[in-house]
Amino acid sequence: MSRLSFLEQEIEKIKEAGQLITIRTISSAQGAWFVADGKKVLNMCSNNYLGFANHEALKQAAKKAIDEFGVGPGAVRTISGTQTLHIELERKLAGFKRTEAAIVLQSGFQANAATIPALVGEGDLIFSDELNHASIIDGCRLTKARVVRYKHNNAEDLDAKMKAEASSGRRLVVTDGVFSMDGDIAPLPELLEVARKHGAMTMVDDAHGEGVLGEAGRGAVDHFGLVGEIDVEIGTLSKAFGVLGGFVAGPKVLIDFLRQRARPFLFSTGLSPADVAACIAAVEILEQSDELVRRLWDNADYFKRSMQQQGWDLGKTQTPITPVMVGDEHKAAQLSKDLFSAGVYAQSIQFPTVPKGMARLRVMISAAHERSDLDFAVSKFGECGKALGLI
Ligand code: PMP
Repeated sequence: MSRLSFLEQEIEKIKEAGQLITIRTISSAQGAWFVADGKKVLNMCSNNYLGFANHEALKQAAKKAIDEFGVGPGAVRTISGTQTLHIELERKLAGFKRTEAAIVLQSGFQANAATIPALVGEGDLIFSDELNHASIIDGCRLTKARVVRYKHNNAEDLDAKMKAEASSGRRLVVTDGVFSMDGDIAPLPELLEVARKHGAMTMVDDAHGEGVLGEAGRGAVDHFGLVGEIDVEIGTLSKAFGVLGGFVAGPKVLIDFLRQRARPFLFSTGLSPADVAACIAAVEILEQSDELVRRLWDNADYFKRSMQQQGWDLGKTQTPITPVMVGDEHKAAQLSKDLFSAGVYAQSIQFPTVPKGMARLRVMISAAHERSDLDFAVSKFGECGKALGLI
C-alpha cells in the first residue's frame, strides 16, 4: 500500500459530504460566454468584473511588452527582476488609490502573506473578522501574533474584544473590504473608529472592492471617503483588473519596508512583463472613464432584481457578487450541474469555503454581460430551481 493511500480515504470523505469540487476546463478566452469542458456556456462565475481579461487594449499592451521585454523577469525583484514596467505599475496604482506608494506582488494571496507578518509578530495581537478570506487567515498564521476573531462586520464585538485584550504589543485590525462569498461590505468607518480608540493599525483587503466600489472603482476605502485614513490596503490584479497579481498600497514607509523584508517579494519571482503591461493598461482605462464600472452596477442591479422577483434568496449582498442561497450541499451541486446542462455556468460553493449548510451558487456579474445574457440566466435559474423545488 502506498504511503499516500490515506489521501484516497480523505477524498472519499469529501465525496460523501457532497463537497467534491468539479473543476471545469476552459478552452476559450474569458468573456460573457466561454467554452467550459467543451461546451459553450454563459459565464456567471468569473471575477472578470469589467471584462478586462480579454480586452483589446490589455492584450495589445501585453504583446508589446513581450516584444520589448521578453516573457520572464529573470530573477526575484530584489536581484535583477525589477523592470521599468513594475515601477510604472506601482506608480500608477499609488496614483489610482491616492496613496503615497504601492508595491506589486505575484497575487492578492501573496500580498496578504507579505504584509501581515511585516506588521505584527510575537507579543502582538491581530483582530480579524470571522469571515475574512483564507489568504488573510494564512497571512496571520505566518506570524507569531495571537489572532482574535471578532463577529462578522460587528464593530461592537470588535470593541469588546479589544477592551478585553490588554497587551503592550502592537495591534492590527484586518478585514475584507467586500466579502467574497456574501458580497457584503465591511463597515469601515465604524471599524476604524474602534481601531483608533484602541491604538490599532488598520488593514483592508479590497480584492472585490477594486474596480467595483468608489470613484471609478477606487475601492471600498474610497467608497467610504476614508482615503489616507486606513493604514494598509491590499488589492488583487486578477479580478476587476482582469490579469494576475496583487499589490499593497499605503504610506511610503510601509512600502519601503515591504521592499526590504516581505518574504514573497524577496524570495519569489515577480510578475511577467506581459502581466504587468496589461495591468498598466487596465489602470489607465479606469483613470479615463467609469463607464465600465457603471455598466457593471447596472447589470448587477438588473440581475438581482430579476432573481428576487423569481423568489431566490440572495443573502445580504450589497455588490455585484450574488450568492444564490441553497443551503444543502448536494442540492447546490445539483443545481449547478443542471444549469450547466442548460447552458449556464454558475459554480456551487460549499464547505470549507462557506460554513456547512450554507451552500450556494455564487453568481458573478460582469460589465461584459449583455441584458439578453442576464435574461437567459434568470430564465434557466427559474426552470432548474423549480425542477429541484428550490423556488
Ligand atoms: N483576498 C480576497 C478577499 C479574495 O477574495 C481573493 C481571491 N479569491 C484573494 C485575496 C486572493 O487574490 P488572488 O487571486 O490575486 O491571489
